[in-house]
Order: sequence, then structure tokens, then C-alpha cells
Amino acid sequence: MDIRSLVRREILDLRRYEPGTTRPGYIKLSSNENPRSPHAGIVDAVCRAMRTANRYPASGVPELTKALADRHGVSPGEIMVGNGSNEIIDLLVRAFAGPGLNVVYPRPSFIVYGLIPSICGCQGIPVDCVNYRLDLKAIRRAINKNTRLIFICNPNNPTSTYVTDEELGAFLDQLPEDVLVVMDEAYVDYVDAPDYPDSLELRARRNTIVTLRTFSKFYAVAGLRVGYAVADPAVIDILHRVRQPFNVNALATAAALAAIEHTTDLRPMADETIRERRRLRSVLLELGYTCPPSQTNFVFSDLGESSFDLYSALIEHNIIIRRLGQFGASRNAYRITVGTPEENDLLIAALRTVAGASGERSPR
Ligand code: PMP
Repeated sequence: MDIRSLVRREILDLRRYEPGTTRPGYIKLSSNENPRSPHAGIVDAVCRAMRTANRYPASGVPELTKALADRHGVSPGEIMVGNGSNEIIDLLVRAFAGPGLNVVYPRPSFIVYGLIPSICGCQGIPVDCVNYRLDLKAIRRAINKNTRLIFICNPNNPTSTYVTDEELGAFLDQLPEDVLVVMDEAYVDYVDAPDYPDSLELRARRNTIVTLRTFSKFYAVAGLRVGYAVADPAVIDILHRVRQPFNVNALATAAALAAIEHTTDLRPMADETIRERRRLRSVLLELGYTCPPSQTNFVFSDLGESSFDLYSALIEHNIIIRRLGQFGASRNAYRITVGTPEENDLLIAALRTVAGASGERSPR
């Protein structure tokens, strides 16, 4: 039997998600992870939870749901926890879109926005960024009567830029009522721009806003997979109907509960990342690379049509960054996660060496 003949064309056309490369002993700056280990209080909580791991976790994780609801001043019915915010993106598309419908998302942006619609047999409509920023006007124009979801990645992975409250407000004013607006805020804890919009507050204006957050960045537990949505209770109810019975495991739940308790302790780590991203950006600019101001835990660099391969050059220095072809960015665009100050020192030294070695190359 030709197994491939059993599957839809769109599935055959898919390529596997390629995570950021990792190699033992290398400095990994390719997956936007927190470079620090989880807080000791989180590690202890996970070890304790292990003792009762013979039991299934509580379905729908009520304790964590309540803690998140308290934290955001909403009701537990407005929170849905997932196996990473990735799972919630998947559930949203599966539940609200489907054959004959479409999903609009920016490009380059988080790869999963385009991947899931193909799996669900619905159309994905990518809308190109302009100057590395989301083009909300073009996104508005791309929406038609079959659009059920729009993804707004704010700040955007991989370009690191953000949409302001004024821009988002004007966009929402123009939007048809019957479209879910998914505000993916995976990097919100690294934002320091005063005009960054508060999507949780905007929910008072329309009940179709869905905010996504994750424990994978600021809270440094990417390996445990916890993310959540804040949305209208009717949206959350639908998501619960389509999720797996025990989608969030007991260790992840314990970690997230402990993480919330330690939020204040973790803030200095994120502040350090913010300082370090400024340092990295100024070095990249000094070396002549394009690098938009970042509101995330990574920086984006585009060497335009340059034939110089920064990724390969840095591998020689045991440093792994991310190429962005799969994200729909140009062939010479790169994303570099902000590491610890010590890792960044090594990165900066390597960048200076490779820039020097590439001769009088003149990046854009
Ligand atoms: N959204 C964006 C924009 C991301 O960059 C990521 C992680 N790289 C996610 C969602 C997924 O996060 P999680 O680990 O919670 O699945």
C-alpha cells in the first residue's frame, strides 16, 4: 500500500517544523529561550509534583486557571491553559476555521500560524510585513467574508517589532465583527515601549479578542510546555470542547503555579535581557547590519541580498543563531536570541571577527 496516497495533498505538501538548531557545547541562540535555568522554587515544585505523577492531572487544571484568572483580574471562565501556547493556536484554528474558511497572519511571523490551517484544510493567507513591521492596513484588506481568525504577533517573532496602541485601535475600529483577533503576546514581558497596547483591556471593546501568553520565555520553563489564552467565556468553552482530556501535564501545572508566585523574583532577569538586547543591537548597527529596534528577547538582522552567510560564520565560533527562510523572511535574514551577558560577550567578539574577516563587505 502506498501510505502517501491515503493522505490529503495539503498534508503531503507540509514540511516538518524545524526547531532552532542545537549542538552540544555550542551557545544556542536559535530558539528564543530564556538563557537561565528555572527558579529554584519552580524546580522544587516540579520535584514535589513528581511524587503523585501516578495520577492523571486535574482535567482543565482548575487551580492554575484560578491563579491566572486572579493575576489578570478576570474570571476562571475566561482562561484556557494549553500544552504551550502552540497548542492553543492549534485548537483555535481547528475549532473556528476549516474547509471553505481562512486564517490571515503576518509574514514573516511565527511559523505555526501558517502550518495549522494547512492541516485543517482551510486557507492560510499570509500578509507581508513592511520595514519589518506588521502591515495592519494590508491585513485588513486581506480579510474577507470567509476569514475567521487573524493572528497579530505582538511583538512579532522574528522581526522583533511591535504594533502600537494607536495602530491597533484604528485597526480594530475597521474590522468586521465576526473575526477572532488573536493577539499572540509570547514576548510581552520584554516590552518596554510605553505605547504598547493592552490587549486584555481592549477585550472590553470587542469580545472577539483572544490574548495568548506563555511560560516559555520570561518564566524559563519552555521544556515543560505551558501557555494560556484569555478570551470571552464562549471562546474558552469551545476550546475546552476540542482539547485533549489531560492536555496540560501535572509537572507543567506545578511549575506554572510556582512560577506565578515567583514573578517578582524573575523580573531582574528580563531587565537584564532588555539591557543586553540594546547592547547587541548597537553592535549589529555599528557593524553595518540592518537591525530594527527590538521589544523581545531576540534581535533580528537582515543582510539584504548579501551573499555573506552569518549563520555559517558564527557556527565556526560555536554559536548557533536562526536562519529565517522557513519563516518567510529573506534568505539573509537572521534571528539572534539574547543570551547571558557572558554569552553575548562571546557573540559580540565573534561578530566583530567575522565582520572583519568578511573583508570590506558592505551590508545594506
Ligand atoms: N507564539 C510565538 C510568537 C512564539 O514565538 C512562540 C514560541 N517560540 C510561541 C507562540 C509558542 O510558545 P509555547 O512555548 O508557549 O508553545
